[in-house]
Amino acid sequence: MSVDKHSRILVAGTGPVGLISALALANAGFGVILAGPPARADDGRTTALMVPALKFLDRLGVLDALTRDAAPLKVMRIIDGTSRLIRSPIVTFRAGEIGEEHFGFNFQNRILNAVLEKSAEAHAGIEWRRAMVENWTFEPGKVVATLSDGTSVESPLAVAADGRNSPAREAAGISASARSLPQAALVLNFAHSRDHAFASTEFHTETGPFTQVPLPGRRSSLVWVLRPETAKEFADLDDAELSLRIERQMQSMLGRVTVEGGRQIYPLSTYLPQRFAHNRVALVGEAAHVFPPIGAQGLNLGIRDVDQLVEIVTKHIDDPGAPAALSAYDSARRPDILARTSAVNLLNRSLLSDMLPAQLARSAGLNFLGGFSPVRAFFMREGLRPGSGFSSLASSLRAPRRSRDAAAD
Ligand SMILES: Cc1cc2nc3c(=O)[nH]c(=O)nc-3n(C[C@H](O)[C@H](O)[C@H](O)COP(=O)(O)OP(=O)(O)OC[C@H]3O[C@@H](n4cnc5c(N)ncnc54)[C@H](O)[C@@H]3O)c2cc1C
Repeated sequence: MSVDKHSRILVAGTGPVGLISALALANAGFGVILAGPPARADDGRTTALMVPALKFLDRLGVLDALTRDAAPLKVMRIIDGTSRLIRSPIVTFRAGEIGEEHFGFNFQNRILNAVLEKSAEAHAGIEWRRAMVENWTFEPGKVVATLSDGTSVESPLAVAADGRNSPAREAAGISASARSLPQAALVLNFAHSRDHAFASTEFHTETGPFTQVPLPGRRSSLVWVLRPETAKEFADLDDAELSLRIERQMQSMLGRVTVEGGRQIYPLSTYLPQRFAHNRVALVGEAAHVFPPIGAQGLNLGIRDVDQLVEIVTKHIDDPGAPAALSAYDSARRPDILARTSAVNLLNRSLLSDMLPAQLARSAGLNFLGGFSPVRAFFMREGLRPGSGFSSLASSLRAPRRSRDAAAD
């Protein structure tokens, strides 16, 4: 399919979601103008992407280049590391339990950004202007972006992938509820003396999660959510002392820890727009949803935004930014974004809360997950293929009826 030049779609923002949007729209046959700076080479984080996101990246032709330097996630564990009165049992999810090889892979953002950047540069359908959008105006049937290089772009649809403060979102008149949290994520990589066996462990603590995720070899990445002042204090420790704190926090489960260079701190906040598209602007990635890094959700959700956006605009090829297309996108994304946002925020609040009911609810939830294997399998399948948990639950509920019917024959 080749779409008329006049309907070139503008993607604003060159984080992972902007680059993925540009590639996916260009692969679907749309001409794309991408506006934003070169991809970040200094992002020290890693991102765990689950199987549906990997399949999407595979369709874009970038997965092989990514998995070479990434580690598979075969086991995911949640440990209650609080010292609260009510504590939860350890919950372990094993991909093998539902017949899968892995839940996903953990990628270094630096490599993810570089691979996506190279692919976008090489794509004939993408024109990348390495400039910021400085101004947005809205005219009948089109949006006009003025860029910092003095050029302007007219498009029937602007994809806002311009991050949590999204200037495009604001210009389109979409308000967002925003809250800064009393938390910051200390991010680093470390080596360890024992094998991780491709297991990730999320310790729940009173200040937020402490999450170890495997990297290739005897190395792991860490996202340690702390009070902002503690994150700063820990980031300033010398290597030996910080290594010791991490080893203690992990109860030495990976043996001796040696931190690598390059610590970064990410202040945490939440953003939730009141709608996900309006005025010829569709929101994707952090322009559409921001919540704390618990359970590796953010970019996975951002990739689902792009997947559904491409599906919808392909059905509205004559005018991809028409009100009908934007309203279909808003309705399609709303349930998924609201469900993930509220689940993550609720879990985060229950960790921070000293209130007994919040702790009871969290503990009961994890007890339920940990103690009953069909429920665990259900959640694992939902993580791998949203919707498949429901269908396998339905078929397991139907199974006794079939055997009853067989007995009656
Ligand atoms: C510590 C931490 C760990 C995380 N771990 C995971 C994980 O394991 N799994 C997971 O799925 N998610 C994870 N996330 C979430 C994930 O990092 C985000 O969902 C993802 O980075 C969002 O990407 P984005 O492209 O939407 O936004 P960003 O990366 O913020 O990109 C926004 C882009 O817009 C550009 N921009 C801004 N203004 C303009 C303008 N006016 N004109 C043009 N361009 C503009 C910026 O320069 C930037 O390039 C984590 C988040 C944190 C904080």
